[in-house]
Amino acid sequence: MKAWEANIRHVTPYTPGEQPDRPDMVKLNTNENPYPPAKEVREALHKMETEALRLYPDPAASQLTNELARFYGLTPEQVFVGVGSDDVLAMCFLTFFNSKKPVLFPDITYSFYHVWAELFGVPYERPALDGRLHLRKEDYYRENGGVIFPNPNAPTGVAEPLSDIEDILEHNTDVIVIVDEAYVDFGARSAISLLETYENLLVVQTFSKSRSLAGLRIGYALGNPALIRALNDVKYSFNSYTLNRPALEAGTAALQNEAYWRKTLAKIVATRERAKKRLAGFGFTFEDSQANFLFVTHPVWKAEPLFLALRKSDIYVRYFKQPRIDNYLRITIGTEKEMERLYTFLEKYQEETGGDVS
Ligand SMILES: *Cc1c(COP(=O)(O)O)cnc(C)c1O
Repeated sequence: MKAWEANIRHVTPYTPGEQPDRPDMVKLNTNENPYPPAKEVREALHKMETEALRLYPDPAASQLTNELARFYGLTPEQVFVGVGSDDVLAMCFLTFFNSKKPVLFPDITYSFYHVWAELFGVPYERPALDGRLHLRKEDYYRENGGVIFPNPNAPTGVAEPLSDIEDILEHNTDVIVIVDEAYVDFGARSAISLLETYENLLVVQTFSKSRSLAGLRIGYALGNPALIRALNDVKYSFNSYTLNRPALEAGTAALQNEAYWRKTLAKIVATRERAKKRLAGFGFTFEDSQANFLFVTHPVWKAEPLFLALRKSDIYVRYFKQPRIDNYLRITIGTEKEMERLYTFLEKYQEETGGDVS
């Protein structure tokens, strides 16, 4: 071993979903939105002067922050923005999880949480979801250094009622509770309405899924001004100019067309509800998803070979080779046409693997 190697830090990184680029592929593996962003986004990017790129962007990202505050009926002091919610969540771990007590999040959840905990040296415990992949709220009533979970959860799609989230908040008034609402717009109830009552609550959302802007990287946190100030202090100690100029312009523009946003959401929800029926028809079982994906398992077809067979046909879904969920596939809801490609593939797969699967 070379002397310099002794001081290199080695970590086990988060594994993002693959980003293949194949003609005619059906990409249902990273929960992107199948519809394009609002036309206001294109207009804003077209209007941008490349000359402006000479200058640093506004470090406070004021125009976007103000627009988000307006959209949610909050004040700009209640809004923090970052480079995707991954950046926002990483900042939250750095800022709020500094206790010697363990931070709590579910055993089956967004797999970035334990990666950040490891990276920042935050102790953590992962209470197990119940047999129906629901969070057991009582698991979060014990002493801890903070709480974080997505609602709806990923990769399960399962949403918890707002009353359960409020119960968790009531039992955790001494720590920061973060609700990661990456998928909330697809049908769950947001905890934003609880911000007024719980000063220790932080709601994190993203433009990547419901607003069709995964490629721009915009995320935000909503919470009481003291929390937002703390987040900004950490951000300014790390990287002041997080959001670039195109992201600030396009993100602001995306918030102008609420009608288009609602229309694409309704389309995805309708396709998801049809997908539940179609996939059940093939024998898949799943808990009820309120997100833009389904987390499915099958009594006969093993998930990994099916994942590989789909992949060979350029249909990409997500497979996690992890304890408890290694016989599940996470399938993003695409357009109707993309979903038809999936169903056609499954019909053929059914014939080839011997017909009746019920
Ligand atoms: C997709 C996702 C995120 C991160 O999304 P960004 O693209 O970084 O905004 C955060 N949390 C969950 C649960 C997600 O699924």
